[in-house]
Amino acid sequence: MIARSKLRALRTEKLVIATHNSGKYQEIRALLADNILTVLSATDMSLDAPEETGNSFQENALIKAKYCAQATGLTTLADDSGLSVISLQGNPGIYSARWAGPENNFMLAMEKIEVGLRGKTNRTAYFTSALALAWPDGETEVFEGTVNGTLVWPPRGNQGFGYDPIFVPNGHDLTFAEMPPPQKYAMDHRYHAFEKLKKACFV
Ligand code: IMP
Repeated sequence: MIARSKLRALRTEKLVIATHNSGKYQEIRALLADNILTVLSATDMSLDAPEETGNSFQENALIKAKYCAQATGLTTLADDSGLSVISLQGNPGIYSARWAGPENNFMLAMEKIEVGLRGKTNRTAYFTSALALAWPDGETEVFEGTVNGTLVWPPRGNQGFGYDPIFVPNGHDLTFAEMPPPQKYAMDHRYHAFEKLKKACFV
């Protein structure tokens, strides 16, 4: 269990976001804007990315956060996230980025999901975000959030990133890619994980 004083000290520290995904980085910066003074990305720090060998979002988030904290000597925040489709036994799940291949082709990844859903009536899915904080001394803390929704076809909208064009969150008609980014940021899986992080660190 991390000391509360250490969590609260985050407000005045430099925090590295362990990601090279600019969509994710923009969203995390926006979510932290009121609470953290200096935010840097793994790209700013010219860091490479460790292999994600974990079996869960939490394990992979910890791998990324610990690697970056050791490499930079700075407190680090990593997000591991993905889309789990109920009718596909939770896939792509932790393989969400890998389904897009080395060229990050998310049209291909979305088509793969749609092919798998053919003939199935259950089109529900959920995004998960595991946020891991890691300090250079080896201490860590993880927070997880999810958002439930339904998958549509064809893809709609050109905001956001990844699987946003096929995901309609419950209670809404627009896909995440059709919403203005601030609207998505106020309801998605990272928002829910950040609410937990903020409660632990900033309230
Ligand atoms: P990670 O960088 O290994 O965590 O990969 C996460 C992958 O999940 C991303 O590359 C996206 O494809 C997908 N993903 C995570 N969060 C979102 C989101 O908010 N919208 C759309 N796709 C997402």
